[in-house]
Amino acid sequence: NSNRDQPPTYVKKKGYTFGRVLGSGTFGEVYQAKRIKDGVQVAVKVIRKSLLNGDPTMVNKEINVMRGLKHPNIVQLYDYFESRDRYYLVFSLATGGELFERISQQGRFSEKDAVRVMRTVFEAVAFLHDHHVVHRDLKPENLLYRDESPDSPLVIADFGIARVMTDENDVLSTVCGSYGYVAPEICRRRKYGKPVDVWSLGIITFTILCGYSPYYFCENAQEMLAVMERHEVVFDKRYWWGVSDGAKEFIRACLHPDPAQRLTVHQALRHPWLEGTTALDNDLL
Ligand code: ADP
Ligand code: MG
Repeated sequence: NSNRDQPPTYVKKKGYTFGRVLGSGTFGEVYQAKRIKDGVQVAVKVIRKSLLNGDPTMVNKEINVMRGLKHPNIVQLYDYFESRDRYYLVFSLATGGELFERISQQGRFSEKDAVRVMRTVFEAVAFLHDHHVVHRDLKPENLLYRDESPDSPLVIADFGIARVMTDENDVLSTVCGSYGYVAPEICRRRKYGKPVDVWSLGIITFTILCGYSPYYFCENAQEMLAVMERHEVVFDKRYWWGVSDGAKEFIRACLHPDPAQRLTVHQALRHPWLEGTTALDNDLL
């Protein structure tokens, strides 16, 4: 995608009626808004220039990563513009709430349900990786339901720190991500790439199957890193007795401390557990 290499050109325009605040981001609020020309409801991320010290690099990167990316399970960037003191990024709207909220509201949640959810997310991340995009901040808060219906699709949001890796040998080195979801090679300040997303997806899979983080017992980041690097994934019998061995094996393969030995998204999609052949249908809640 060659237009990814050029900086975006901002066009000043009005044309949206702003409504309620949907959420707060690092550099401003995200509003629900109506696109006046056709009445379509959208989400507008408003970023205050003053908080960026006049440097648009960060916004440009988010735009360059997202433009041209169109997938049913990824929040779409429709438009962007700026005013004297703010940038505006217009996204497809997701009103169905976060993944965890819905799981806890549901009366029943089985391994088969977990497979359905995670397969969608892995497929969306496979699409990103095939387009050389590493998300770097996959966590439950960034997985949103598009609408309130029970069969609503899940969408990946927040590409605020996502990056394009234009060739296979490209590496990233910025230390970033969210505590508890970040891969050991990022903590170690090593060069890294797409495998960091699979790590985060492994943590999310663990968490939706049992309701707690795999490293909850760690006192601090150092201890957590040591546990991660020993490839220690504890499936406490009290919470995991009803979960299949296939699920545990899948999670361990996503949480391999060596990124070269970790499953790739495409390998994960071919894993029997994520193919749905071994998952159990018993209630986990
Ligand atoms: P930041 O990059 O600053 O973390 P996000 O992109 O995560 O900003 O947006 C902040 C919050 O706004 C999100 O946690 C979510 O609650 C809400 N939000 C963001 N994008 C959308 C969207 N497309 N639809 C609905 N809510 C959204
Ligand atoms: Mg965010």
